[in-house]
Amino acid sequence: MVLAKQSLPTDRIAIEPPATEPTASGWYLTAGPELSVLPQNGDTSCECLVIGGGWMGLHAARRFAELNPGASVVLVDAERIGNNSSGRCMGFVIDLAHNPRKRDFVEDIKGNKEELFVNLDGIAYIKSAVEENRVECDWDPQGKYHSAATKHGVEDLRRFSTALDKLGQDYRWVEAPEMQAITGSRHYIKALYHPGTILVQPAKYLKNAVRRLPSNVAVHENTPILAVKFGSPKHVFETPGGTIRASKVIICASGHLTKFGFFENRAIPLYTFASMTRVLTESELAQVGNKSEYGLIPADSFGTTIRRTTDNRIFLRNVYSYATDFKTTISEVKRAREQQQVAFDRRWPQLSSIGFEASWGGLLTLAQNGGMVFGELADRVYGAAFCNGTGVARGAAFGKAVAELAVGRSSPVIDILKTRANPSRTYPKFVTSMGVRFTTALRFKQAGAEV
Ligand SMILES: Cc1cc2nc3c(=O)[nH]c(=O)nc-3n(C[C@H](O)[C@H](O)[C@H](O)COP(=O)(O)OP(=O)(O)OC[C@H]3O[C@@H](n4cnc5c(N)ncnc54)[C@H](O)[C@@H]3O)c2cc1C
Repeated sequence: MVLAKQSLPTDRIAIEPPATEPTASGWYLTAGPELSVLPQNGDTSCECLVIGGGWMGLHAARRFAELNPGASVVLVDAERIGNNSSGRCMGFVIDLAHNPRKRDFVEDIKGNKEELFVNLDGIAYIKSAVEENRVECDWDPQGKYHSAATKHGVEDLRRFSTALDKLGQDYRWVEAPEMQAITGSRHYIKALYHPGTILVQPAKYLKNAVRRLPSNVAVHENTPILAVKFGSPKHVFETPGGTIRASKVIICASGHLTKFGFFENRAIPLYTFASMTRVLTESELAQVGNKSEYGLIPADSFGTTIRRTTDNRIFLRNVYSYATDFKTTISEVKRAREQQQVAFDRRWPQLSSIGFEASWGGLLTLAQNGGMVFGELADRVYGAAFCNGTGVARGAAFGKAVAELAVGRSSPVIDILKTRANPSRTYPKFVTSMGVRFTTALRFKQAGAEV
């Protein structure tokens, strides 16, 4: 559905910035030294302001600057880039996600082909940063294992394989003995290996990519936008240190985009959580399989995602919780860590005492109907947001495409994204939060040993 352009909000809008995360992410802590930070100060004027340095915003800033080498571009983020949701993710750069939440996933050949096309564009853009701009990120194009530990998990994988057959995609069934050899665990009874996904260290990518942006991009981290007055010829943004005047703005602030006067009451904010072990010793490594790196996606989306990393750690992700006001708490991180210990013990009981070196959460923004924000929201105001669960490859593609749209270009990806549904209105907050809490608790229980 083509986005109907809203008229520019005329009043000054005060914006509550994102809350600081209660814990740092393990990826960020192990992504190399802290880089210097330069918050915005004084009065800055630019052609284009990009708000948000995640997969969407970073690639929007890069693309806008590449296409307009003479234009000044400013990229701001309220926090450190790399320690945001994008840097907190599991690092699967996914070409085609298994999306059981979408009822017609198996039948929707056109939708899946388009999704693949968009994601491949995002992967190619990230790859060009790695190859041409030498962005270091532990790039590993090994694909992913969709892993089942239960009968219902195997059924989920069979449905996924039917969708892959319809798309003419390559994949391979992996039986229990091979899974045991790969992971060192007897937990998995079957898996579906699908090539095409890239594994990366996401915080490393973001930290390094930000330093390799074109020279006409000024980056200001720790710079929340606190208020905006949209207008002509420039929109005016207030930061703690001053103002930014911009002819165009691209808002890539995930669910926080709704605070800028667009798509209010459309975001369903969730948190999901991860934990990371310390670096394993030689003898411990011998117990987590014969493959030096791997990525396992659970057959049931409420199960546990696993990575064995380049630097020899095990990472686990599970648990979803409703994120009141887009934030989590230290007690929720602790509760999720307990679930991750249960999941770890199911797989590697003999290594249980290792514990975790870091645990953290990250924001996911969903829409009731799975819709995403993409397009020109109002005069010279562009937006890309709402990842709906997977946003690395897709986020890069959205960011690149929205910048192209902002400079008046067209492309096959833009054509596809323009036909996508916009996020639909949610039920009142209380109803949504209760509904999400009930559903996530139920689905988590039903996932059983997939967790
Ligand atoms: C634990 C976890 C694991 C995941 N694993 C995967 C995975 O393996 N693969 C995958 O594809 N997806 C994964 N995801 C989802 C993925 O991380 C998100 O889809 C993606 O990060 C969304 O990117 P984004 O650029 O839209 O938003 P974000 O990364 O949230 O970036 C938005 C930015 O906007 C900034 N911002 C907001 N408001 C303001 C303001 N007022 N002023 C200035 N800045 C502001 C924020 O600070 C933030 O940095 C995972 C998510 C989590 C939490």
